[in-house]
Amino acid sequence: MTQTDVILQAMKKNAVDNGYFLCPDTQLLQDLIKGLAVNTQRYGYGSCPCRIASGVKTYDADIICPCEYRDADVDEFGMCYCGLFVRKEVHADSSKMRPIPERRPQEVQDAALAVAEGRQGTSDKHTGTSTPAVREEKKVKVWRCTVCGYLCARETPPPVCPICKAKAERFKHFLLEK
Ligand code: SF4
Repeated sequence: MTQTDVILQAMKKNAVDNGYFLCPDTQLLQDLIKGLAVNTQRYGYGSCPCRIASGVKTYDADIICPCEYRDADVDEFGMCYCGLFVRKEVHADSSKMRPIPERRPQEVQDAALAVAEGRQGTSDKHTGTSTPAVREEKKVKVWRCTVCGYLCARETPPPVCPICKAKAERFKHFLLEK
């Protein structure tokens, strides 16, 4: 069995287990599975074939397929961002497939890439009152687990890190250096 076969089987099973269907467009399905295989070979994990990965697993944890955004997207739009997982009615009529908005917050994308490039602003001076107030008000807050590097966007840190299980107090507010 090739790596693409293995990934396809795993995605099929995941779809069935979650009540979803795979992409009804055969060519797109093939391309997405191939993209996952390429990313798995390149990074050692199957990051989303439609998104730019940082190449550091903990920073890409939210976009390892199936990503953290899939369920909300399938729920709201009938398909995930790439269209790999779809709802029954979309599977029955592929003309219902369409581009959908990116749910991964821009701040998380920026933070993941910045961390991977070694430009992260995680020192204390970026977590205190020197933070520009306008940026604080207008943007989604990004939190970084200081134990494993996991990034997430939300008002408050998660109670427990989904990757390493560190508690909320181990999260630090993350801001990019300007
Ligand atoms: S958008 Fe779809 S293909 Fe991309 S990671 Fe999420 S579930 Fe997988």
